Amino acid sequence: MNRLTGFMFENHVAHGALVELTAGVDEMIGQRDYGGDVRRLLGEAMAAMPLLATHLRFEGRINLQFQSSGPLKLLVAQIDHHLSLRAMAKAPAALAGGFAELLAGGVLALMLEPNNVPGGPQRQATQALVPIQGDSLAQALEAYFEQSEQLPTVIRIGTGAGRLCGFILQRLPLQHAQASQEDWHRLQALAGTLHGAELLREPAQVLLARVFGGEALRVFEPREVAVSCRCSRAGISRLLLALGREEVDSILAEQGRVEVTCEFCGRRYEYRGAEATELFAAAGSTPPQTRH
Ligand SMILES: [Zn+2]
Repeated sequence: MNRLTGFMFENHVAHGALVELTAGVDEMIGQRDYGGDVRRLLGEAMAAMPLLATHLRFEGRINLQFQSSGPLKLLVAQIDHHLSLRAMAKAPAALAGGFAELLAGGVLALMLEPNNVPGGPQRQATQALVPIQGDSLAQALEAYFEQSEQLPTVIRIGTGAGRLCGFILQRLPLQHAQASQEDWHRLQALAGTLHGAELLREPAQVLLARVFGGEALRVFEPREVAVSCRCSRAGISRLLLALGREEVDSILAEQGRVEVTCEFCGRRYEYRGAEATELFAAAGSTPPQTRH
C-alpha cells in the first residue's frame, strides 16, 4: 500500500509528512523509454507530490513542472485532493546526467488548480515560478518554498527499485505564542539528520520516533496514495471534440485512424473513421461541409 502519514507538532511551529510509494510506480514510469537518470528524477518528483498535498486546503490539483532549455525539456508531476498521482517527462531516450545538468537554467513552476463547481466558492488558480536551484529535486523544492512562500522547509527523498520515499517538515506561520524561532531551529536540525537511505529502510513510525522522539507530536492516520493516471477514453473523446471535426477528418484522411497516446502512462487510444463520426454525431456537431 502507498501511504502518506501526516504529522503536526503540538506547539504548531511546524507540520510535515512521510510518504512511501510502491504500488503502481513501475506501471507509471517503468514502461516508458526514459533513461535511468530521468526515471530516478521522475521517481523523486512522484515522492514529493503527496508531501506537497498533505495539507492541501481545497479540492483540485497540484501541478509541479520543471521546464528547461537543457536536455530535459519538461518534467511534470500532478496530484489531486484524492491523492491520485501521475508524472511524465519530455526527454530523449536514454538521456543521462545529474539534476542540475539535466535542468540547467530552468524554472520550477508550482500551480494550484482548484476545482470550481457552479454555485460553490470560486477560487483562482495560482502559479508561482522560481529559477531551479540546488543539486537535487528536494533542494530545488526547498528553495521554492523559502523564496516563493517564505516557508522554511526540509525535504528528503529516497528512491530505490520500485520504491519511493519522502519526508517533509515545514514551518508554520507564527500564530501561537508557544511557537518560537528556537523551536523551529531545533526541529529543523533534527530533520536534517534524516537521509534518503534511512527513509527507504524504516517505516514511518520508527523514523518519527528516531528523529523527533522527545517532541510533542501528533501523527495522523495514514492516507492511501494512488499512483494512477486519470486518462480515459471519455477524456480523449472530449479532446478530439475540442480539436474540431475538420482537424479530426484530415487526420483520418491521412492516416485512416486517429491515435492518441497518453503522455503520462503511455496508454494508446485509437479511433477508426466510424467511431470518430459517431463521436461528433453524438455531440451534435455539424459536418464541415455545412459550416459557414
Ligand atoms: Zn494516462
